[in-house]
Amino acid sequence: MIYLDNNATTQIASEVFDAMLPFLKDSYANPSSSHTFGRMAKQAVEKAREQTAELLGASDTNEIFFTSCGTESDNWAIRSALKLQPDKKHIVTTRVEHEAVRVLCEYLEKEGYEVTWLDVDGECQLNLDDVRNAVREDTAVVSVMLAQNETGVLFPIEEIGRIVKEKSDALFHVDGVQAVGKIPVDLKSMEVDLFALSGHKLYAPKGVGVIYIKNGINLPPYIIGAKQEAQRRAGTSAVPNIVALGTACEMCINEDHSKVERLRNKLEDRILERIPQTHLNGVRDRDKRLLNTSNISFAGIEGESIMAHLDNRGIYVSIGSACHSGTHEASPTLKAMNVPYRIAMGSIRFSVGRYNNEAEINIALDELYKIIEQLQEMSPYNI
Ligand code: PLP
Repeated sequence: MIYLDNNATTQIASEVFDAMLPFLKDSYANPSSSHTFGRMAKQAVEKAREQTAELLGASDTNEIFFTSCGTESDNWAIRSALKLQPDKKHIVTTRVEHEAVRVLCEYLEKEGYEVTWLDVDGECQLNLDDVRNAVREDTAVVSVMLAQNETGVLFPIEEIGRIVKEKSDALFHVDGVQAVGKIPVDLKSMEVDLFALSGHKLYAPKGVGVIYIKNGINLPPYIIGAKQEAQRRAGTSAVPNIVALGTACEMCINEDHSKVERLRNKLEDRILERIPQTHLNGVRDRDKRLLNTSNISFAGIEGESIMAHLDNRGIYVSIGSACHSGTHEASPTLKAMNVPYRIAMGSIRFSVGRYNNEAEINIALDELYKIIEQLQEMSPYNI
């Protein structure tokens, strides 16, 4: 198997697996129990909180709250930001957020909130003047992702945070799910109030996430019940997952990403150079993109066919279009970028990870050359 879909999820690091194992088996205490066994579990949770705070550059461990996933963190951030400011009914977000934010904001629109949807250009970049014009005194929350999951394009969170604070008292939420572990983050130096991350994107298991809530923000709880997580997120702590996430965060601190970057660059350069009718979706400048992601369109060929052929050879990637009742539709991100249909439907996202190696990239390239040649010959658009 050659797994090139690391933005969808990642393999659990063996160090992470080893760290969580005792808490799945022998050290099964509830960290809310006050006996010695429970206190040991509590200590492990608090260690993970420190490891997470360090990776995020939080100024205090009490700014870190464990959740079940990135989606829960995003929902908590946005819904509770609205609850905290009941007189404000305006939200600002982008057209290219992950469903965790985008679909929630569409839902809130139906509930009566006004949403300003920020456009992106053809390279998936935001215009800061649009942000400046969108934020108003009655804006309750601005939600912008740090790294776009399909294209890898990075948004200028520092500048956006400054604009939000200059123009309003709105809370600034950042969906950092795709960025954490891939690029350095230092929340204490930014005007970010709320921030979401997800364990399974950084070599921890599925089922654990984090919301960072800046000290001083009295964000109401989202899940209500017992007193876990400083009475702000009820539910018995998922100790094995939390320990795993802490270990995964520690492994990401000062991680050298040069191998991942080299492999991504090789994959991207070779495809764009050697295969005719290919287009990079997203900004060309690699400093403005995640170092592991390439979204490339093979014009006139269906992404689903490419994916199926790669799948037959045990090579796993993602596509940027979906098939509903026999018709193809580009993803909302590619649509927002105004990528022409013929190009959008042939979009493939390659996302490299820590455990990929050069031999895998070489095999993936060789197989891809053959598959594309074959599909281009068969394409009705090939004249
Ligand atoms: N936000 C972004 C940018 C994502 O890429 C994802 C998952 O792909 C999520 C949020 C949702 O995270 P989770 O799968 O942990 O709910």
